[in-house]
Amino acid sequence: MHEHVPSSTDHDHDHTSFGRRDLLRGAVVLGIGAAGATIAAASPAAAAPGEPPSLAPDPDAPADAPPGALAGVEIAAPTIASCATWGAAAARGTIDTVSTNPNKILIHHTASANVTDYSRAAGYQIARDIQQWHFANGWVDTGQHLTVSRGGYVMEGRHGSLSRLQNGSGTVVGAHAPGQNSQAIGIENQGTYTSATPPAQLWSRLVELCAYICDQYGIAPTQIYGHRDYTATACPGDVLYAMLPQLRSEVAAALAGTSWSVVVDNTSAGFSAGSSWLTSSFSGERYGADYRYATPAEVSDLATYSATIPSSGSYRVEAWFPGIAGYNTSTPFIVHTGTGSSTVRVDQSTGGGTWLSLGTYAMTAGTRTVVAVSRWTQGTAYVVADAIRITRL
Ligand SMILES: [Zn+2]
Repeated sequence: MHEHVPSSTDHDHDHTSFGRRDLLRGAVVLGIGAAGATIAAASPAAAAPGEPPSLAPDPDAPADAPPGALAGVEIAAPTIASCATWGAAAARGTIDTVSTNPNKILIHHTASANVTDYSRAAGYQIARDIQQWHFANGWVDTGQHLTVSRGGYVMEGRHGSLSRLQNGSGTVVGAHAPGQNSQAIGIENQGTYTSATPPAQLWSRLVELCAYICDQYGIAPTQIYGHRDYTATACPGDVLYAMLPQLRSEVAAALAGTSWSVVVDNTSAGFSAGSSWLTSSFSGERYGADYRYATPAEVSDLATYSATIPSSGSYRVEAWFPGIAGYNTSTPFIVHTGTGSSTVRVDQSTGGGTWLSLGTYAMTAGTRTVVAVSRWTQGTAYVVADAIRITRL
């Protein structure tokens, strides 16, 4: 665990409640939670992320309304397990509350092990462990407001955080960043992201969660920061910290209603591959439970990913695979736009465990095979088909 010094004097200034939430009500409901779909879009029209503040940010600086906010998108509430659901112990003292809405989100990592058990039970157990660690600090309860597990399960942190978030009014005073505990929602991401990339499931849920928090409290996505922006700490790790501009951008796109993205994993209904494509869970860099692999051969034996492109336009296509020395250095990925196809050669011997862009394509609407992985390549090293993501730009 990184240090989290609680502040008992964190009530020293007001901040404005924007009431923007009301403006967001009543229009389109973003389809979070649809089968296989995630919100995870980075729109070029999205707001440029704000500059990180100094370690002594101006407390009176107002939060900007997100540029897309008035487009009128309502963010569906994500599933968040309450303290009772994940089995929190009772708080060991009085939890202070504030009636003013928080004005920012601070991103943390728990600096705990990067477990490969992505189950709900594992996430809940780590949440209970965290609470005990925080009790050991002398705190009355879990320090942060919310927690995201490596498998993408979202949990309430400090008792009372969830009901106030759902009401969009006030919060409990946390213990996650001195000076910010009554005005910043603290989100702990389970794991250590100094050199590792957060699992895709964690990232998707984090984007959804931040969009929901911004919606509920009227916080601009530019007001998402890392713990280190306010405290001398390595938290949330160099890798996750470097992803905060992407987080702001994806949250802004979600709020603006311009996000559309779909992930097709090798376990999804849209995936198809023949029996020569074997299944493995060997690499921890896999997306989801497992992935498929095959030997190169001059045969037409494709692993295919089908998706429904919702409208004609520009889309980014990405692939996720485990990158291991010994996997093929020239795996053919074939992208079908609806009017033609392009083959992209991918080196799967390195650089895995994250989304690799296969490029941006003008696509027509419709349901079809959008990406295929071919065995027709050089050498004997395995070609791998794990997950693909398509994002409207
Ligand atoms: Zn932290």
